[in-house]
Parts: sequence; C-alpha cells; structure tokens
Amino acid sequence: MGKNMHDRLNALLTKIPALRSVKVYIFLLLLAMGILPSFVMRYGILQSYENRAVSLRISDTQAQFTIIANHLLANNYLQDTSNAAINAELEQISTLYDGRVLIINNSFHVVKDTYGISEGKTIISAEVIRCFKGENTTNYERKGGYIEMTIPIMDSVSSANTSTDTAQASPAAVQGVLLASVSTESIRTTIEIMKRSALIIEIVMIICIFGISVGLSSILIRPFNRVTQAINEVKDGFTDEPISVKDYRETEQIVDAFNQLLNQMKVIDDSRQEFVANVSHELKTPLTSMKVLADSLMQMGNAPIELYQEFMQDIAAEIERENKIINDLLSLVKMDKTAAQLSIETVDINELIELVLKRLRPIARTRDVEVVFESIRPVTAEVDEVKITQAFTNLVENAIKYNKEHGWVKVLLDADHQFFTVEISDSGIGIPEADYDHIFERFYRVDKSHSREIGGTGLGLAITRNAILLHRGSIKVNSVEGEGTCFTVKIPLTYVKQ
Ligand code: ADP
Repeated sequence: MGKNMHDRLNALLTKIPALRSVKVYIFLLLLAMGILPSFVMRYGILQSYENRAVSLRISDTQAQFTIIANHLLANNYLQDTSNAAINAELEQISTLYDGRVLIINNSFHVVKDTYGISEGKTIISAEVIRCFKGENTTNYERKGGYIEMTIPIMDSVSSANTSTDTAQASPAAVQGVLLASVSTESIRTTIEIMKRSALIIEIVMIICIFGISVGLSSILIRPFNRVTQAINEVKDGFTDEPISVKDYRETEQIVDAFNQLLNQMKVIDDSRQEFVANVSHELKTPLTSMKVLADSLMQMGNAPIELYQEFMQDIAAEIERENKIINDLLSLVKMDKTAAQLSIETVDINELIELVLKRLRPIARTRDVEVVFESIRPVTAEVDEVKITQAFTNLVENAIKYNKEHGWVKVLLDADHQFFTVEISDSGIGIPEADYDHIFERFYRVDKSHSREIGGTGLGLAITRNAILLHRGSIKVNSVEGEGTCFTVKIPLTYVKQ
C-alpha cells in the first residue's frame, strides 16, 4: 500500500517536471509563508471586530431598552398605549437602530408594534416565556443581520437586578416583555469595507511576495546552477582543475565529491596511459630482437647453417617470450572483470597445491631448488579453481625463479574456521622493503634485466593479487634481502557474494 502510494507519487513527479524542481518548492514555500499569515490575520481581525461590535451594540441597546421599559411601567403603558411621549421614544429608538420594538403584556398579547403589524396578536415564544421568568435574552442572527432581544418590564425594585443577563427576578414582578430586534446592517457594512480594504492590501502583498519569491528562489538556487556550470566546464574540457562553489555547505559537499571523482578518474587515466605505454614497450622488445637477428642473418649472405640454426633458436625464444607476455596480458584482463564472472566451486586446496607443485617441480629441478609442501590440515574452500591455481602458480614460480642454486621453497597450508592461509617462503634473493608496494603493479620488476633474463613479464604478481582480491582475500609480503621472501595469502573458506 505504502509502496503503491510512493510509486504513484513518483509517477506524478516525473510527469510534471516543475514538481521536481527545488526552485519551484522554494518559491511555493515563500509564497505560502508570505500569504497565509495575511489571510489568517484578516480572518482573525474581522472576526474579533464583529464580536466586539455586536456585543457593544447589545449592551448599548439593552441599556436603552431597559430605560424605556422602566418608563413604560411608570406610565402604565401596558394598559394604555396612547402615551405620545413614549410612542415617540419607541419610534425614535427603532429608527435609530433600524429595528422594531414589540411590547407584550402579561397575557402574551402584543400591545404595541412599531411596525404596527402585530398589535393584538399573541406571541408565545421560548424567549418571551424565559423573559417573563425575569431573564434577559439576546440572540444574534448573523445571516439575517439583526439582534433579537427581550427585556422584562418589571417594577423598579426587582428591575435593579436586571442589569445582568442572568439576573433572576420574581416572575410575579415581570409585567410585560419588550421584544426588540435591532439591525446589525451598519456592522456588516463596516465589515464589508474592511474586507475590501483587506483584499486590496492582500492583492498588493501577493504581488510583492510573488515578486520577492521569484527573485529569492532564483537567488537561493544560483549556487546549484554554478555547480552544474562548473561540472559542465570540466566535462566539456575547458578545465581539469578542481572546481569550487563554497556558497553552501551542500554545494561544497557536492563539489568535493565531484573533485574526488575527478582525481580518481585522472589516476585511472594516468595508469591506463602508463599501462598502454608499458604494453607497447614490452611487446616491442622481442620484436626488435627478432628484427636484429633476422637482419644480421640476411646481411651475412651465405652464413653457415649452424649460425642460421643458432639465430633461429634465438628468434623462436623471442616468439615464445612475446607469446608469454600476450598470455599474461589476457589473464590480467580476465582478472580485471567483475566478481560475477567467477565460477565458484568447492575445491580441495591440498590437492590444488599438490598439482601446482607437481607442474613446477621440473623447473625447480633444473635449478636444484627443493620444493616442500607442508599441510597442517586438509582444507576445502569455495574458490574459482582456475584463478586460484594461477595465483599460486605465479607465487611458487617466482619463489623458484628468484632463488639461489640449491635453494628451497616451502609451501605451508593452514586454516581456521573462517580463512585458509598459504605461506610461500623461499631462500632466494629477497625484495627490498621499498619495493613491497610496487611489486604488485603491472610490469614492475625489482631488477628489470634479471627478471627478463629469467623470463619474467612483470605481470605475474598483478594477476595473483587480482585473483586473490576477487575472492575477498589478502596478500602480504615479507622479505629479507639476500635471505629470502615469504608471501602470505589469506582467503575466506566460503565465498560471499557482495
Ligand atoms: P615477473 O614476471 O618479473 O616475475 P612478477 O609480477 O611476478 O613479475 O613479480 C614482480 C617482481 O617482484 C619481480 O620482477 C621480482 O623482482 C620481484 N619478486 C617477485 N617474487 C619474488 C620472490 N619470491 N623473490 C624475490 N623477488 C621476487
């Protein structure tokens, strides 16, 4: 359900591009923040004005009607409505408030109506009944635009209590009811005028806030535009300097991340260029030798067959070397691919190492190097057999190649519950400490001529390290120059996909 909503929202956002713009959001936010308070204020002010004006009108008119009620009683008006002074007074007040006054006697008969319509009629309404019990009632009819009120007509002793709405007089004392309605039209007119002025102010405010929001949202978003511009400049090749947009912490973070990416790409680019240069150089060397050998043979004219054979052997050796470099390069390219291309299976590591050593022993024998395998325990692990075989072959082959006559190579296999470790130590020439970090680089050799002499390409350890990293393992080197080297490889027993 939640995901569904999320999907729908995303679909909407992609359909309306404006909804995905921070600038639009900032603009709308500023607009809302500017306009909403003025609406709330207008509503609040008008409401409180209306309440205050109505309550003032009520207390005003109530006071006046109470005075009239007292006059009515004093002049016995309920019995005789011909009193001209009171009639004039009633006329005056109803004109003043654009209202109507009805005088009702204790038998609920209308004795006087300033409109002259309801005289003689009977009025029994809830308000009138309540008023006969001595209660003042008021009722504001907002829609009709009038206030209706009842004032009890009672003798002066009990009428002293009528100053408050809740005052309760003895019902016997109430001799009649003054039912009046006064118009609130003037209040409404004032509100209308106020509304109109508020509307004008609001329109002016909306226009101003709209302008401010448009301007401010553009200004606020500008640093992000600068980031895009700077990145585009780098992309289009105008500059390859690190970019800088320090306006916001956010833009600084984006730009920092971009600069780091740029640096990484530069490093990758440099190393690729170096690699291509190295490859070309390495591939050219055997070709140059072959050309020299062939040229000299040709220049000699009729050289003895033995010389031809000797030169041809040399040329064949160079071809062999070229072949080896190309094979190593292909292995390296394969290792560079992602871990997804590993074909992982459960492999008996003891058996795997035995096989590697069996293949390499003939080479070791030619140099009278003794190869020993010691296994602490049987180990099986989830690995890519081909790649791991290649990694160990390279390490053991190096240990034989960079060894002394009558030297030894020892391979030690051990495991705990998580990793298996293979230690390949030799009694060879050793590696200077300064070269530890470099020997895993492609084409790096400690002693170039010596390595070439014994048929090295400088790619072996690079291939080995890649294979081990693909298995999320590690490789470390430890060496004493002139005494020997020890490579330690640690690989997880179970392969965990990332
Ligand atoms: P190469 O094909 O030249 O052997 P590697 O990548 O296998 O290339 O090794 C890189 C360099 O590391 C070698 O040229 C050599 O100088 C040094 N090296 C590797 N293994 C050993 C070792 N067991 N003893 C001494 N030096 C070694």
